[in-house]
Amino acid sequence: MFLRLLIFVVVVVLVYRAAKKWFGPDHSLSSGDTGAPPQSVDDEMIRDPECGIYFPQRSAVALDQRHQVLYFCSTECRDRYLARHSSEAPQ
Ligand SMILES: [Zn+2]
Repeated sequence: MFLRLLIFVVVVVLVYRAAKKWFGPDHSLSSGDTGAPPQSVDDEMIRDPECGIYFPQRSAVALDQRHQVLYFCSTECRDRYLARHSSEAPQ
């Protein structure tokens, strides 16, 4: 008697899961297009001085200048910025 009830509950749970998977819109499983989770509300969006795109400060690459700190979207942009500014200096 108890075993039958247990089996019934298990079957109901499995059917419920399967139905949810088939009929529900699959935002939980299709983790394809949107990369960033929507938890980055507290992130400040800053602008890359090299390539000009906006990005969250949390993922920024910081560069300490003498009187200010610059933030870049990637190390490539930081290196490009540095190369451009160091090539201007000697001449
Ligand atoms: Zn950049």
